[in-house]
Amino acid sequence: MLQTPRDMNPYQATLKDVLERALSYFDTLDDQPVGVNFSPAALKSQWSDKLPDEGIPVDQIIKELDQASRDGLMSVQSGRFFSWVIGGSHPSALAADWLTSVWDQNAGLYSVAPSASIAEEIAGEWLKQIFHLPAQASFAFVTGCQMAHFTCLNAARNHVYGQVGWDVEKKGLSGAPPIQIISSDQAHISIHRAVRMLGFGTDAIMPMATDAMGKIIVSEFEKAMHGFSGGPAILVLQAGDVNTGVYDDFEKIIPVAHRHNIWVHIDGAFGLWATACKDKAYLTKGIELADSWATDGHKWLNVPYDCGYAFTAHPEAHYRSLTHHASYVTQGGEVRDPMNWTPEFSRRARGFATYAVLRELGTKGIDDLISRTCRFAHEIVTGIGSMDHAEIIALPVINQGLLRFKDPVNGNDDEFTEKVIHEINLTGEAFFQPTTYKGKRCMRVSVSGWRTTEEDVQRTIQTVKTVLEKYNLTLSHSG
Ligand SMILES: *Cc1c(COP(=O)(O)O)cnc(C)c1O
Repeated sequence: MLQTPRDMNPYQATLKDVLERALSYFDTLDDQPVGVNFSPAALKSQWSDKLPDEGIPVDQIIKELDQASRDGLMSVQSGRFFSWVIGGSHPSALAADWLTSVWDQNAGLYSVAPSASIAEEIAGEWLKQIFHLPAQASFAFVTGCQMAHFTCLNAARNHVYGQVGWDVEKKGLSGAPPIQIISSDQAHISIHRAVRMLGFGTDAIMPMATDAMGKIIVSEFEKAMHGFSGGPAILVLQAGDVNTGVYDDFEKIIPVAHRHNIWVHIDGAFGLWATACKDKAYLTKGIELADSWATDGHKWLNVPYDCGYAFTAHPEAHYRSLTHHASYVTQGGEVRDPMNWTPEFSRRARGFATYAVLRELGTKGIDDLISRTCRFAHEIVTGIGSMDHAEIIALPVINQGLLRFKDPVNGNDDEFTEKVIHEINLTGEAFFQPTTYKGKRCMRVSVSGWRTTEEDVQRTIQTVKTVLEKYNLTLSHSG
């Protein structure tokens, strides 16, 4: 008898195999090097680069993919991964993300993917509550904070041009009144890209001077406002500088900007999460006064890539800037069509993973995630900072800090800092990245992963100690 496609479920063997591979990945994670220590050529040599004429059996493809990828995988799920601002995935988020792929919903329209729209709507409302944003704020699930900036600044463009009677969606930017973008001189590069993509051009940016930790100097901002001639303008503030984690002074700055009709956007890629932590919420005081907020799910919340969130206090502007419908008010559906709020048309159903992880953690679990990762960052920075040849450049206010290593021989601290980072990474015990902060090479300490434990922190401090001691030994031998 012929088998029907149903009898020979084409996924069965493969998904079981993948489950085994996934479990083994997690089981052996703690014994793997945290970073990648292979050259591009060595990694590429493990891949088959011939496009096949004939198809290859699925089990073979997955097995070979798993093998070829291994050496080039960053152990971002490790508790000792401290580079960039990259989190792992909570179990519920990973599981919901698997189901998202299994269900393969196109989450652009409610009618095409009803459950996907509903999940986003519930999770979006929860996020607003978690961040203490205005109840009427609009939201969108996008690919990351970069696209959240784009979404928010696109809404801002509609709003500030609307105030001067310029229909930017219809007329475009040619002949439009010039727009002024005011931002911190430490603004994340994703702000510059959003400004470029929206057609403002980076020449439109007026950078504001910052203090040693990267906060906009309020008096400098006030001075700039005295000279401000009016017209469409957007101010971008930072909630969590990528290097130091500091926050701009929202309470002082936002009301001044609003007196000049300036739209205030917040880059809170990870830092917005401090609003959800009772010990850290003071840093975000006044943030709810802003006009838009951009943040991530894939960083501090530990949702799988990719996942970002955009919020605006001006749903009409947000909607008008993206929809193909004439009016936000005449759209009477009970559940939103997500594509009216996002730059994407067809899109992944990102709401499921967020919905799941917010239920896994609850507000108490989020509070704990934020406060413990902040504590670990502090412990690592002070633990390493107290060693010979180490210097603390930025003591973490949240989960980000900076260290620098002092060259005992040539006084070339930039090079020495890079060398120490390289040596630490070669041990495979922990993984850090360098950055240049205000002209100095530093080692970034970024604790974003939910799996980091006190033991990981101690193991990391010990590793750095061993590396520095080894270096001292070499020195005394050669000198
Ligand atoms: C990571 C980051 C971004 C960009 O976010 P993506 O999710 O990578 O698009 C923007 N701003 C800050 C401060 C960041 O740390």
